[in-house]
Amino acid sequence: MDEGEHTPQPGDAEDSDGNNGNNGNTNRSTVSDPDRTTGTVPSDTDPIDSRPTRRTDADGNHTTDADDNRTGDGDAGDNTTTAATDNSGVNVGSGGRDRSSPDVDFDGVVLDDGEENQGLFDDLLSGEPIFENKEVLRPSYTPHELPHRNDQINRMATILVSALRGETPSNILIYGKTGTGKTASAKFVSQELESTSQKYDVPCEVEYINCEVTDTQYRVLAQLANTFIEKNQQVIANRLDHYRDRRSAAADDPTALADTEFATLDELNDRIDGLEADAEEMEEVPMTGWPTDRVYSTFFEAVDYHERVVVIMLDEIDKLVEKSGDDTLYNLSRMNSELDRSRISIMGISNDLKFTDFLDPRVKSSLGEEEIVFPPYDANQLRDILQHRADIAFKQDALTDDVIPLCAAFAAQEHGDARRALDLLRTAGELAERSQAEIVAEKHVRQAQDKIELDRVVEVVRTLPTQSKIVLFAVILLEKNGVHNINTGEVFNIYKRLCEEIDADVLTQRRVTDLISELDMLGIVNAVVVSKGRYGRTKEMGLSVPVEETEAVLLSDSRLGDIENAQPFVQARFDN
Ligand code: ADP
Ligand code: MG
Repeated sequence: MDEGEHTPQPGDAEDSDGNNGNNGNTNRSTVSDPDRTTGTVPSDTDPIDSRPTRRTDADGNHTTDADDNRTGDGDAGDNTTTAATDNSGVNVGSGGRDRSSPDVDFDGVVLDDGEENQGLFDDLLSGEPIFENKEVLRPSYTPHELPHRNDQINRMATILVSALRGETPSNILIYGKTGTGKTASAKFVSQELESTSQKYDVPCEVEYINCEVTDTQYRVLAQLANTFIEKNQQVIANRLDHYRDRRSAAADDPTALADTEFATLDELNDRIDGLEADAEEMEEVPMTGWPTDRVYSTFFEAVDYHERVVVIMLDEIDKLVEKSGDDTLYNLSRMNSELDRSRISIMGISNDLKFTDFLDPRVKSSLGEEEIVFPPYDANQLRDILQHRADIAFKQDALTDDVIPLCAAFAAQEHGDARRALDLLRTAGELAERSQAEIVAEKHVRQAQDKIELDRVVEVVRTLPTQSKIVLFAVILLEKNGVHNINTGEVFNIYKRLCEEIDADVLTQRRVTDLISELDMLGIVNAVVVSKGRYGRTKEMGLSVPVEETEAVLLSDSRLGDIENAQPFVQARFDN
């Protein structure tokens, strides 16, 4: 069982804004400006460098360019090499140079003899650019092509096409683990649906709601109501323009009404008055404060204002149900029987395969009229997906041949998560760029995997409940004192002392054993049950995460701040 399943993934949050507006073409960084990428320090003839500048020489004397010259100090080639080959990573503090403070004089931009007038960012910029367009590797980018999702996309389209014929499509429920392309596919289909409806001028609209963000019935209904009110206002404004034109035409020439639906000017005036009243009446729903019935009926009126078929996409629908129950879905799913002019169809998208277990049976059968499953990607499919993106994201020949297969293999282990695969590829590129490598290689992918994994651990540890943190701290102390095969009894003893030191409640040993099991499930410790013969059974464990980073995260919790003072005390237990 992979631990990724029940823990948040680093990339998850980024997706939550439902933003697909970024086509990734706008944000090209200056790094890719070909003029900046020579990778060498400017020559001595650089006009900027010929200004006399004060600096401090190795002996601490202030000098200027005017009263010495660079010929005396080694040769310029040497310094060039130093600057260009210094691969020590992002060393912003010293402008990427491995030189210490005596070279720096803040009276001017001053460098050592023979070194060129390099600013803080020059070395960073001078790295050979790896990315062509990094944005396409971010979760907010909606790809135009979705390899290995043809079947799912075609099924969605086959069901939704009825909307373009003015009929109500069946409700659809989409399932699949995170990173299997559900959101990307649904957005792709909705864009196609809307553009086709415009092309044929049929009233079909898609509303996308991310329920991780919009997570209560009130908010879902309010967002829908306000969207439709805004659209209606637009429709009304257009009609009013049209009718008012008619009216002024008729004022000049009474026969102008002949080819309209209005027999008299009064009829036309009545229509205009009616529309103005409608516009007046449509009141936006405030973010809080109204009774839910009122929000619901406002949405109802708004959507039914004119004929249309509306597809409501509820992404992360399991989050909505988890947080606020299934009332929203119940209300939405029975609306069609009461709507006069419009029809709605619901498309729910869930990461949780079992979420319908919690639904009212009526909601369950209505929502699940059609079900589409998004299976995890295998390593080969992930390879294709990465290759498509990499072609746009990276400069030509910026990746060694093993980079994409390795990213795909790592992500395939992570339940076939394309988001993870893309994160890995992007992070590998960033790490390569930071180390001023010219090409992304296998080692960068491995570093990226470690970094993402560490970020995940840090996040999991940071959000642990206090008691679990104390238990974990006990394990760390034992480990740091060279105890192997740590057993529950030992953990409990240290845990108890730590609680006393920081005035925390002491849980029972049984409870602590449960907390250890939870830490085990989260992949933070690795516990096995061992039999001690007639002494019964105990758990033996070790830490599965890096000691220092984990300890640092624990100590950054203010409730555990004092625990550091308890360490010498615990230490003493091992010294005798
Ligand atoms: P889900 O909604 O199932 O969690 P997403 O649709 O958000 O997954 O996909 C996660 C990331 O992987 C996104 O950046 C998405 O663009 C990308 N992705 C997923 N499937 C594909 C695919 N078949 N082709 C290209 N990119 C994909
Ligand atoms: Mg999604």
